[in-house]
Amino acid sequence: MRMFDRRTLLVGAAAVGAFATVRSAYVFAQAAAGPFKLDPLPYAADKNEPHIDKMTMEIHHGRHHAAYVNNLNAAAKDNALLGEKPLHELLANLNSVPDSIRTLVRNNGGGHANHTMFWQVMGGSGGEPTGAVADAIKTSFGDLAKLQDQFNAAGGRVFGSGWVFVTADKSGKLALVSKPNQDTPIMDGQMVLFGNDVWEHAYYLKYQNRRPDYLKAWWNVVNWNEVNKRLAAAKEGKLTI
Ligand code: MN
Repeated sequence: MRMFDRRTLLVGAAAVGAFATVRSAYVFAQAAAGPFKLDPLPYAADKNEPHIDKMTMEIHHGRHHAAYVNNLNAAAKDNALLGEKPLHELLANLNSVPDSIRTLVRNNGGGHANHTMFWQVMGGSGGEPTGAVADAIKTSFGDLAKLQDQFNAAGGRVFGSGWVFVTADKSGKLALVSKPNQDTPIMDGQMVLFGNDVWEHAYYLKYQNRRPDYLKAWWNVVNWNEVNKRLAAAKEGKLTI
């Protein structure tokens, strides 16, 4: 082997070693301890293909959602309140959160709650809703197509980043709500039955600027069984996040 090639190899090996070190530090930082936890996705990252691509799922969960959790844990070091009260109570009473961390809790706490809900209600095969949810949709919206039209239109109208939600009350009545940023109807004392993320990070790799196509495709991965479980919990007043 000529010296030049050998040098190139050695430099290459050193670079790989340095990269591995940086990467370990990054992974360590991602797993920072604290009262908030990033649960694994409840299904494989490719479960929502082809409608939501695997890489979007991995980045969305492993980086975006993880960042919200990390930010909360970092803030919890100096604010014991964050570990003492359940997240949904903090969000429902933002005015009682100290000024110094209110915006952080609103953005990152809202982000943690919204994404935790989001992963749960996906991973299914869409189609017609089943069980009590089917009846609730009929009563509150007429039929699934009407709900989808209103939901997709509301999602399309969100300017910039935000969410579109369906809330449920204890009587099982549903309503459509859209929110900017990482706000959630939990902040208004409501219960979120399900919702869709219209931040560009949720769809840009596959859909680019075609948010309406993403909103339409998303219904193909809704898990109606999970939504039924959430509706049952809402009727008992026990649906938290
Ligand atoms: Mn998101």
